[in-house]
Amino acid sequence: MEIEKKLIKKASLEKLFEKLQAKGNKIFAPVSKDGKTEFQYNPSYAEVTYDHIQTTQSLKNTVFPKIENLIRFKTDRSGVEVTEVDLTQVQSLVLWGVHPCDAAGFNALKSIFMWDYKDEYFNSRLQKIAVIGLSCHKSDDNCFCTSVGLNPGGTQGCDILLTKLSSGDFLAEIITEKGKAIVTEASELFETAPSETKEGNLAQVNQQFSHEKVTKNLAGAFEHPFWVENSLRCIGCGACAFVCPACACFDIQDETKGKNGKRLRCWDSCGFGLFTIHTSGHNPREVQSQRWRQRILHKFSYMPERNESLGCIGCGRCSRACPVDMNILEQLVSLEKL
Ligand code: SF4
Ligand code: SF4
Repeated sequence: MEIEKKLIKKASLEKLFEKLQAKGNKIFAPVSKDGKTEFQYNPSYAEVTYDHIQTTQSLKNTVFPKIENLIRFKTDRSGVEVTEVDLTQVQSLVLWGVHPCDAAGFNALKSIFMWDYKDEYFNSRLQKIAVIGLSCHKSDDNCFCTSVGLNPGGTQGCDILLTKLSSGDFLAEIITEKGKAIVTEASELFETAPSETKEGNLAQVNQQFSHEKVTKNLAGAFEHPFWVENSLRCIGCGACAFVCPACACFDIQDETKGKNGKRLRCWDSCGFGLFTIHTSGHNPREVQSQRWRQRILHKFSYMPERNESLGCIGCGRCSRACPVDMNILEQLVSLEKL
């Protein structure tokens, strides 16, 4: 569909938010509190911020929950009775104020969950989200979207993209049929496209490395001393994976109480020592440098090769969250020169 542009005034944006809520939509939107910004479930419009650089947590949870119930089961002497989860009951969500890197993160996840095997748990949730993006007008030293093929005003993964203009009003780019349906339902709030373009209202994020060059260099770097030298301080806490919008490692666990049980899919991390341990006790990735290497190779070598997508959208969350200051951008810049 060809992208259509409209103007939505600041006051009309509030009306759009409230109209969506009045129609029964549940909205996740960024809210700042005590110096931190996080996506909050169904806040009031007055709480929503348009001024943040990045939330600590991504919106990955909306399509790939931290803990997802896959099935329920009951065992007795005659066998096992399995009850499927009714995926038609998945709730519709509007994701509001999503920065372009995060919106593109859904495509990275899609390339994993909808690759050879189509994961219906993921897909049911993906179908039920509408993404109202917000171009970035601010960035920090951890942002590197332009080095991974994205940009602060990119439309990838958005149904509508908003860009704040110098007047305080917003340019609305309507990208998909889902976005068009939202605009059609509230057509009185949208006006003729402004003459001001979004380009002058975006954060300046300079490209710092070529991801193609990094991918090329990784092909011969499996045994390189780089991995040991650059992971000595990693404590394997997994924070980088949990905040990452594109990390998709999970573990499946059965939890039982008496004869009843649930099969749960839980977030995991290739940075954890237990992630690859075998029942025999053998661990093919026995030291942290092998786990760090896996994280980078998966995102910048295996995914481009197998999924035709990078596993990183340059949001910088992992660097901001790391308790020992491991900086992925610095490492990727070094890997480009390897
Ligand atoms: S957050 Fe930092 S210390 Fe924790 S696993 Fe990731 S890189 Fe290692
Ligand atoms: S690896 Fe780090 S910078 Fe890349 S998408 Fe994940 S959290 Fe963001």
